[in-house]
Amino acid sequence: MIQLKGIKKTYNTDERKVHALKGVTLDMRDSEFVCVLGPSGCGKTTLLNIIGGLDRYTSGDLIIDGKSTKHFTDVDWDTYRSRKVGFVFQSYNLISHQTVLENVETALVISGIGREERRKRAIQALVDVGLSEHLRKTPRQLSGGEMQRVAIARALVNNPKMILADEPTGALDSENSVKIMDLLKEISKDRLVVMVTHNAELASEYATRTIRMKDGLVVTDDKPFKATDTEKKQEEKKKKQSHMPYTLAAKLSIKNLAGKKIRTALTSVASSIAIIGIALVLACHNGLNAFIDKVQKDTMSSVPITVSTSDYNYQIDEILGYINSTAKGDEEKGPIESVLINHALKNMQPQNITNEISTHFVDYLKGLDSNRVRYDAVKNVSKRVYKNVRLPIYSNTEILKEVSVLDDAKKWACLPPDRSILEDQYHLVAGKYPENPEELLLVVDKNSAVADTVLATYLLDVYAIDEEKTHYTYEEILNTPELNEYHLVLNDDYYVERDGGFYADKTISLAKHIHKYYRSETLLSTIEGELNKNEFIKLINELGVKVNCFDVVPETDGGSKTLKIVGIIKLNDDTQYGMFTSPIAYLPSLNELVIENSYSSAIVQAQFNDTSVSVLDRSVIATGDKIRLNNILSDLGYAELPTKIKFYPNTIEDKDYLIEYLDAYNETNGDNPDITYTDNVGAIIDVVRIVVGSVSAILLALTSISLIVSSIMIGIITYVSVIERTKEIGVLRSVGARKKDVVRLFVTETGVIGLVAGICGLLLTMLIAIPLNTVMGNLTGVTGFVFLRWWNYIAIVLGSSLLTVMAGFIPSLLASKKDPVKALRSE
Ligand code: ADP
Ligand code: MG
Repeated sequence: MIQLKGIKKTYNTDERKVHALKGVTLDMRDSEFVCVLGPSGCGKTTLLNIIGGLDRYTSGDLIIDGKSTKHFTDVDWDTYRSRKVGFVFQSYNLISHQTVLENVETALVISGIGREERRKRAIQALVDVGLSEHLRKTPRQLSGGEMQRVAIARALVNNPKMILADEPTGALDSENSVKIMDLLKEISKDRLVVMVTHNAELASEYATRTIRMKDGLVVTDDKPFKATDTEKKQEEKKKKQSHMPYTLAAKLSIKNLAGKKIRTALTSVASSIAIIGIALVLACHNGLNAFIDKVQKDTMSSVPITVSTSDYNYQIDEILGYINSTAKGDEEKGPIESVLINHALKNMQPQNITNEISTHFVDYLKGLDSNRVRYDAVKNVSKRVYKNVRLPIYSNTEILKEVSVLDDAKKWACLPPDRSILEDQYHLVAGKYPENPEELLLVVDKNSAVADTVLATYLLDVYAIDEEKTHYTYEEILNTPELNEYHLVLNDDYYVERDGGFYADKTISLAKHIHKYYRSETLLSTIEGELNKNEFIKLINELGVKVNCFDVVPETDGGSKTLKIVGIIKLNDDTQYGMFTSPIAYLPSLNELVIENSYSSAIVQAQFNDTSVSVLDRSVIATGDKIRLNNILSDLGYAELPTKIKFYPNTIEDKDYLIEYLDAYNETNGDNPDITYTDNVGAIIDVVRIVVGSVSAILLALTSISLIVSSIMIGIITYVSVIERTKEIGVLRSVGARKKDVVRLFVTETGVIGLVAGICGLLLTMLIAIPLNTVMGNLTGVTGFVFLRWWNYIAIVLGSSLLTVMAGFIPSLLASKKDPVKALRSE
């Protein structure tokens, strides 16, 4: 039941105040057909809008079911409209991109009615108005009368208590007008129908009550009614508030977008270009980081973190002392410069730091988690190895055609303590993995090659079988003793005690002779045969300065052994840098074997017993310096403590753990010497990471600008859409949609664009990534270089939707603020 009490409505326009209603007092019956007549501009529409809660009265009161509306909130009005009022407009106000059925359903969706029920009721309403044939048509495909019947169906579908019709027949011919009037008459049997019309004839024919208005006042009322206050109805239980579910918002948005395919497509493409930029930068950033990780992991084993003692000062002193002693000039030693440089270089090599790591630190390492970091304690011991080699020297001197070449094998690579470290980088291609100290591995590169200069240095005789032969198969190498055998000469087979407790080589070093005689230019006369000077130079170059040749093969009574290459390992294709620079690798147990044997050898025992006796450097021993003694022992193949410890962390996190563990040592070691570790690769990688990170951040910022531009564009487009759809906003508001619902409608629309753009952008990125991966794969050896992590996908799609939602927010806020009355009046 509706009661108007002194309702006044004043519009404040720019120039003046318009008093559209000047105090209307009217009570309506629950069920009657009221016709409101009056000249144009007398306030009929205003009155209807106020009764329907679409417009607010300036003063007075509207009492609904005995309840004053003076303190109604916006939401109360929205709920009132959606539950109790059905509007019918002269211009139908149908949403043109929805079907007839959907137009009717919209009113129900907003009141929160379930899908099945909704469809049933909407169809029923359309059947009731005689439109069962036209459910799937759009409003454009209908005649005016039919459109108005859709509007009536929409007004009725919610089963409201009143229908407010503003000149529903104004745009119709008389035949259609009659049909509409019949319909309204029928409807008014069990509810209130208030209809505004110009047509007094129609009014008198159909209405049960006629009200005439003039200048904002009611002038006549042919069937007045005064409600008694006792008629106050029991207040209804508070129903669920009307609101627009997200599904409707999404549906309306998608429908609208579908209606503007080209615009939507262009907007989405524009945004997705920005997305592609961002996704590609992210993907490349990921790829670069993966590449850096991989390089770091590779280099972690080829350049492991190494701990050695920090006593470098001693070395510098030693070098300076040597310079002083030789500066006086020594004809025998040749030019001072070359001696100095050679000596300095020899000492700068980390292998030659023979200052041992303390037992305290070795013990400390027992606390290191061996599942995270494996380590290898390297003892610096020489292994004397010789091999019979045929040299490419064109000489008639037999001795020089085939000589035994001796080396200390210091350059040979010791295999890591754990086979799995090796297998991160290398794989076995022939033979087997060595099982005992006498078994060796040959290391070949990715092309299955070993450079022949390297071979010469490492005593692999490339000319052993055939001078013309340039290639050997793995099988040939593993099956030919000339190629795969070395002889390990242990101390007792090499040194012999001479008179006076001195030890000397059993054999005569040919190289020493060459060296000596070459200098004194008397070489040709001391060597038998026809060998010219140039050939000797060639020989020395072939062998390198560190190689000794001897012409008498050592005996083997002292336990000397034959070492044999039993397997060949090859660098993995995806490994950048292998851990070995030497083509020959041996088990750590070979070191132990040499150390054990050396310890019991006569010459080493002699060093312990009487440090004044040495074959190597008597002047050094005389100083009684422990470090120098250790140097000598190491040359004799004996060492107690490691000189270097190599650490192999499993992962980058394990590396951090190791570094923390090592740092902690120096704080707790008391009087023991500090240790230093080298992590050159880590330092470089950190810098590279920072550079890559900053470049990516800058690129990301730059590409983000395009995303912002596209968002602004979306904002503009949404604004245009808001203007275009003013009418629709009015309709939605008239059936009870809240301001929020309108915001939701537009925001969903931009969100959908953002979502589509995000997904399209990602799909296109994946397409672009295919050729990019091929190129980057070739460059870096990383397969799947350009890749996105799962959270990148989510972030991009969410970010894109969120940004467009934000872009759509301001225009949609403007839309929601639109006065529904004005919105409906707009054409
Ligand atoms: P009717 O429906 O009887 O033709 P209306 O209710 O539409 O009349 O209008 C009543 C008066 O109020 C008119 O003078 C009209 O110009 C004025 N009016 C209506 N809406 C507005 C508005 N939004 N702002 C200013 N004046 C308005
Ligand atoms: Mg009007």
